[in-house]
Amino acid sequence: MSSEIGWAQSLAIGNVKTGPGVEQAANGLMMISLTHAMRANMTMIHEQHQRQNQAVVANDPRWARIVARDRTADGHLWYSVLTTGVYCRPSCPSRIANPKNVLLHDTFEEAKATGFRPCKRCNPDGLSVEAENVAIVARACRLIEKSEEEPSLANLATAVGLSRSYFHRRFKAVTGLTPKDYAAANRASKVRESLASGNSVTEAIYDAGFNSSGRFYEKSTGMLGMTPSQYRAGGANEEIRFAVGETSLGTILVASSKKGVASILLGDDPNQLVHELQDRFPKARLIGADRKYEALVAHVIGFIEAPRIGLDLPLDVRGTAFQRRVWQALQGVPIGQTVSYTEIARRIGSPRAVRAVACACAANQLAVAIPCHRVVRNNGSLSGYAWGVERKQALLTREAARSL
Ligand SMILES: [Zn+2]
Repeated sequence: MSSEIGWAQSLAIGNVKTGPGVEQAANGLMMISLTHAMRANMTMIHEQHQRQNQAVVANDPRWARIVARDRTADGHLWYSVLTTGVYCRPSCPSRIANPKNVLLHDTFEEAKATGFRPCKRCNPDGLSVEAENVAIVARACRLIEKSEEEPSLANLATAVGLSRSYFHRRFKAVTGLTPKDYAAANRASKVRESLASGNSVTEAIYDAGFNSSGRFYEKSTGMLGMTPSQYRAGGANEEIRFAVGETSLGTILVASSKKGVASILLGDDPNQLVHELQDRFPKARLIGADRKYEALVAHVIGFIEAPRIGLDLPLDVRGTAFQRRVWQALQGVPIGQTVSYTEIARRIGSPRAVRAVACACAANQLAVAIPCHRVVRNNGSLSGYAWGVERKQALLTREAARSL
C-alpha cells in the first residue's frame, strides 16, 4: 500500500509542478484517487490481456510443439516467459510455463529483442540439441566411411567426445542404424559400387576395407544375398526354383533359392509373374518346379488362403539393412491388426523416416509372408499395395474374420 501511495505521489508531483501549499495537496489527493481508478482499470486491462494471451497462446499450434518439447521445432520457434525473464527453445526441459505468461517468437532475433536472458538449461543461443546430434553423427559417419577398418564403438565415441552408450543411442536415433550396421551397410555399398564399375571381386573386397577375403566371404552372403561372384554376374550360377499356382486372390508365383523362399508374387497373369521374377534374378538359372517343389507351393497357397496357420518355411530375405528392419517390424504385426507407416517408423526407432518405410513396404518381395498389407494410412485408409489394392482389402477382410 505504501509503495502504491509513493508511486501515486511521485506521479502527482511529476504532473503538478506549480501551485503552492493547499492547492498542491488537494491536487495530490485528487491524483491519488484518480491513480487508484487508473490502476484498477489497468489491472483489469492487464488481466484481460493475460486471459486473452492465455487463450491465444494455448490455442496456437506453436504452443503444442512447446508442450510436446518438440525437438524438430528447435531453430524455428522460440518462446519467452514473462514471470522468469528468460527465453527458451521449444525442447527446453524446464517445467512448462503457464501460457498466459508466454510470448511466442518466430525468429531468434525477436526472442532476443525481449531483453530477456537466454535460458541456461536449453541454451537457445547455441546449436539445438538435434542439430548438435546430427553434426556429431555426421562426423562419426564420415569417420566410419574413411576408416580402412571398422572403428570400434569406443574409438568413435571418443572421437566425437561422448560416452559410448550416449553416442550409440544418439547414432541410432539419427540414422536408425547402430554404428556397426552403418559400417556394414557402408562396406556393402562400396562392394556393390566397385563390382558394378567392373572391378574384380578381389579389388572390390580391398576397396571396401576388408583386410582379408576370408573375412569378406564370411559376411558377404548377408550383404549381397549371394556370393560376390554371383552378384557380379547378376545372380549367375544361382539356381532359383519356382512354380506358379492359383489362389482365391489370383495367380501366385513362389520362388526359392537354396536359402529359402525368396519371392512370393501375386498377380493376374502367370507369364507376367515369371517376367517379374526374371527381372529380379536376371542371370540366375530359373528352374521350373518339380513335384517336390510343388508341395512347397501348395503349402504357401494354404498359408495365403488361411494366414493364421502360419508359414513355417525359411525365407531368403534380400534387402538393405533399413528394409530388413522395416520388414522385421511388419512381421511383428499380428494377424487381424493393421498399423500405420508412422507407427512402423516409430517401432524401428526412426520416427521421421515415414516415407522410407512406405518405400520399403513397396519393395517387399514376399507377399503375405512379410505382411506389408497390414500397413495402412494414419486415417485407416488402405493406400497402395504392390499386388493391387483389391487384394490388400481381401487379405485384411479375411484376416479380420475370426473363423479363420
Ligand atoms: Zn530453457
